Amino acid sequence: MSEKEFDKENLDLNTIVNYCKRKGFVYPSSDIYGGYAATYDFGPLGVLLKNNIFQIWRKWNVTSRPDVVEIEGAIFMHPKVWEASGHIGGFADLMVEDSITHKRFRADHLLEETGAVKDGSALTPEQVDDIVAANNIVSPDGNPLSKAKRFNLLVKTHLGPIEDESTVAYLKGEACQNIYLNFKNVLETTRKKLPFGIAQIGKAFRNEITVKQFILRMREFEQMDVQYFCHPSEADQQYENWKQNRQSFYTDVLKLSPENIRMRQHGEDERAFYASDAWDVEYKFGELGFKEIEGLHHRGSYDLDQHAKFSGKDLSYLDVERGNLRYNPYIVECSAGFTRIFLAILFENYFEEEVDDANGNKETRIVLKFPYNLAPFKLAILPLMKKDGMKEKAESIYADLLAAGISVDYDEAGSIGKRYRRQDESGTPWCLTVDHQALEDDTVTLRHRDTMEQVGDQGRVSVKNIKDYLNDKAFEG
Ligand code: ATP
Repeated sequence: MSEKEFDKENLDLNTIVNYCKRKGFVYPSSDIYGGYAATYDFGPLGVLLKNNIFQIWRKWNVTSRPDVVEIEGAIFMHPKVWEASGHIGGFADLMVEDSITHKRFRADHLLEETGAVKDGSALTPEQVDDIVAANNIVSPDGNPLSKAKRFNLLVKTHLGPIEDESTVAYLKGEACQNIYLNFKNVLETTRKKLPFGIAQIGKAFRNEITVKQFILRMREFEQMDVQYFCHPSEADQQYENWKQNRQSFYTDVLKLSPENIRMRQHGEDERAFYASDAWDVEYKFGELGFKEIEGLHHRGSYDLDQHAKFSGKDLSYLDVERGNLRYNPYIVECSAGFTRIFLAILFENYFEEEVDDANGNKETRIVLKFPYNLAPFKLAILPLMKKDGMKEKAESIYADLLAAGISVDYDEAGSIGKRYRRQDESGTPWCLTVDHQALEDDTVTLRHRDTMEQVGDQGRVSVKNIKDYLNDKAFEG
């Protein structure tokens, strides 16, 4: 396949799904039992990438800023939280059921897919029923559909020894609620002044009805949130700042191409009633087109008002700088889905290229051009042969780099050409080869993933200088 034939723009999801399993990024959960809908496990390379994303997100949003702190909240919260938040009550998604198979579908998704509506997120049950009738819409299996009903996305369980109404509990449906509940605690323990933010990377659970498109829609996933608290008069400006900030995060920090990122404002009928403005950050996932990866909401004081009301506790802020004014701060919310970012990074960096193999024949190389800080392994150590002391020397360099805390791989199986391809496919920026000359003068070859060329003086680098190459600058250069 030539590079031209590789249709990067319309990269298909299946290619990425297969790639993820083959390389150990993402496996279907409970794989040997045939998988389990909308749940996935992260394999060895996946965990390395995941931790890199967390680290980069944390640095940008929390540790490099004086005004944001991070918490980690519990998955179980008092059931009243979900009443106050509106999750138990009117906000549940609308669903329709196949009258024969009893499979359930999100009404908005189904109507959007059939082209009957462009955006079905704000329809009432009656409107859905009318549209289904007017357009003769049937289920994907071709059967009649039930009337639309509200369906609660929260995952319900019981905690304690008895299973009755008094022990009902819910798994956290969104990460932000811990943040609102801890607003006062954080204020008191950190003595922060407004404006300031509370961040959290936390699990969320949703009993999603439509479960497809791999890790884009899961029943258990992580959200990466910043909830930013400010005086109402500053909220519009803060909202603008965060919109800019989020765009920079994706294009400048995670290096997603600007043409693959867009900001989309919600229509008035699309956003929650308490939000005065809402924007999605969307990424273009190849053939799937643009999909939401992060939501920004201008939430006003809704969340603190609700929790103050339901808990009976005062959650106001005493603003000494505004003449001891007391008020519930406004909140600007940035809530990103970790698995969607993870998938965006794979779509962005996956390439298939036509190259020459060792015999001058054409072959396809799959290469993940991760930026250095995202790459699961930074370097792979490859002894040219296992004999004559090359293996021992390679192992000793491996041990040194591991001890230095660098994420390094080691591979001695197969021809050097095959090993290069394996590392290209893992997205490892550097391959270090220990050959005969290495035993004589303590130099090695260091091959760059993207150029496939060796760096250094006459293609060789002294072992003691390897670490100097392992950074973004060398990678880019
Ligand atoms: P959608 O409209 O796609 O269902 P949402 O608007 O309900 O998403 P939010 O509640 O705003 O999503 O959550 C914030 C972020 O969490 C989203 O931008 C998305 O990246 C992520 N997210 C939400 N639901 C899921 C899910 N089921 N699986 C993976 N990530 C999700």
